Amino acid sequence: MNHKLIKNTIYGVAIGDALGMPHQFLPPQEFDKQPVTEMTGYGAFSYPAGTWSDDTSLTLALLDSLSQGVNYTQIMQAFANWYQLGKYTPTGIAFDIGAGTAEAIKTFLAGTLALAAGSSKVTNNGNGALMRLAPVVLYLANRDDTLSLAEQFEILHNTTRLTHGHVRALVASGLLGMAMLTVQRHPEWPLRRALTTGFQIARDYYQNQPAFQSELIDFKPLFHLEQLINTNRNDIPSSGYVVDTLIAVSWCLLTEPNPNACLLKAVNLGEDTDTIAAITGGVLGLNPATHFSHSWLSQLKDRAQIDYYIHQATESANFN
Ligand SMILES: [Mg+2]
Repeated sequence: MNHKLIKNTIYGVAIGDALGMPHQFLPPQEFDKQPVTEMTGYGAFSYPAGTWSDDTSLTLALLDSLSQGVNYTQIMQAFANWYQLGKYTPTGIAFDIGAGTAEAIKTFLAGTLALAAGSSKVTNNGNGALMRLAPVVLYLANRDDTLSLAEQFEILHNTTRLTHGHVRALVASGLLGMAMLTVQRHPEWPLRRALTTGFQIARDYYQNQPAFQSELIDFKPLFHLEQLINTNRNDIPSSGYVVDTLIAVSWCLLTEPNPNACLLKAVNLGEDTDTIAAITGGVLGLNPATHFSHSWLSQLKDRAQIDYYIHQATESANFN
């Protein structure tokens, strides 16, 4: 896979994360009064502009681990190194840690197998696995012709299950994963066509499997994108619930063609600003025609670290 595509995708995640990070948890009305137009610092956490959070850290942890191949114990160990040692952070300390992710890492460290560490309770349906899906998609994109559809879903599900074991979180990753793979495979297609096709591939796959099929109803807006495009901003949910996040990301991608404006649109939805913008940035970055703002890119903290893991992936047979 070309270096530029890995770079663009990971940069998209980091820029979205850093743009949204200071503004998270604020209600949408706050953004009506004062919309975010630039990268700023402080706010939700005491960090300067350009600081990236868990979304990018866990993305780098997966990119690092997948550079050595798919080993779920190793991926979980990388997550634990972030959580305990502050590896993959620009601050030396892990912060903005999701509850489901923290619980799963502690369960793993106490001796539970990696694939059983994520709680399968219905309350554990935050967007913690969606935020780190980009490296998994880059890995799968490189194996397009050697992995069956079932094997691709298995990897999307298993990398999710590490921290989020409920079937709804698995289906969310399957839907976003197929949408992202379609964007990568067909950069010439309008995003609307790529998302429609990707969501349809996942829906067709899940429809034949009773364990997953019953979850599709929650994601209904993704199968009616025409309706979603015409939905008012005030009716778009933007919480950290996996269903809300996926709908919010899709709405931003479908309603704003300029990638930098699209990231701001994601932030200005409010609530889980950094994760919604990070996922949006990852999808946009999969198209080589996407150019993120140089000013935002240059403001990212410790870009050398991000570049190190991108370079390592580029050199690895698993991304080539
Ligand atoms: Mg975050």
